[in-house]
Amino acid sequence: MPELPEVETVKRGLAPAMEGAVIVKAAVNRPDLRWPFPPAMAQRLTGARVNALRRRSKYILADLDTDETLLIHLGMSGRMTVSGDPLGRFVHEHPQAEKHDHVVLDMDNGARITFNDPRRFGAMDLLETAAADSHKLLSVLGPEPLGNDFHEGHLIAAFKGRNTPVKSALLDQGIIAGLGNIYVCEALFRAGISPRRKAGQIAAHRVAALVPIIRQVLQDAIRAGGSSLKDFRQASGELGYFQHSFDAYGREGEPCRREGCAGSIARITQSGRSTFYCVKCQR
Ligand SMILES: [Zn+2]
Repeated sequence: MPELPEVETVKRGLAPAMEGAVIVKAAVNRPDLRWPFPPAMAQRLTGARVNALRRRSKYILADLDTDETLLIHLGMSGRMTVSGDPLGRFVHEHPQAEKHDHVVLDMDNGARITFNDPRRFGAMDLLETAAADSHKLLSVLGPEPLGNDFHEGHLIAAFKGRNTPVKSALLDQGIIAGLGNIYVCEALFRAGISPRRKAGQIAAHRVAALVPIIRQVLQDAIRAGGSSLKDFRQASGELGYFQHSFDAYGREGEPCRREGCAGSIARITQSGRSTFYCVKCQR
């Protein structure tokens, strides 16, 4: 499941093919994904120029010159593929159409953007650009972890009095936008905080220390994603899934990597999802 760094990587991969280009043809091959597509989506996209691509949480937002914004969510299994870029950044020919190619955008620069999603948990919507922040999916989001509104004071206030485990608090999209299971595990490992500890019971200085750690964990992953984009020419043209090594996530039973710690990584279930952490050094 793509998390914030993967979505950021997809956005960066799409940018050279989409920004400044006009959508000359939009094929919308089914009425819905997770939710119905907006009315007349293909017509509303056709002829629109993409002014800019941006990311909010795990959503990619394409601001169009029609005063509308195309919202893209990859869901669980969504894949974006770029083919046929005429400027030579991507050498892929247009691939054969595949079964789950639900939306295909042909750009006036020759690039083709294909959204493929076998499980259809993804989403696309068109919203009025000026009112984008009040869209039902976006208005509930807390600050971006890499933005200025995410800071020590915010996190300390958000944790105050909270009786839920810190892991649940960090997964709460209203407290911080875009953090998912993997990077919460990684951030808590780096911070040496037990994922089971109640958010409201963590000393303020330790909560404050989480802020730069969360940023660093995400930035490290985004950097790994950026490296994957450099290899793009040899790859399939598919964006956003890259090799990345984790210190805690997925390492059940393996030795803890913290210097001087003789513990090993355990897996527990919290709110139905796997948590990986070192019982010995995460307190
Ligand atoms: Zn350890």
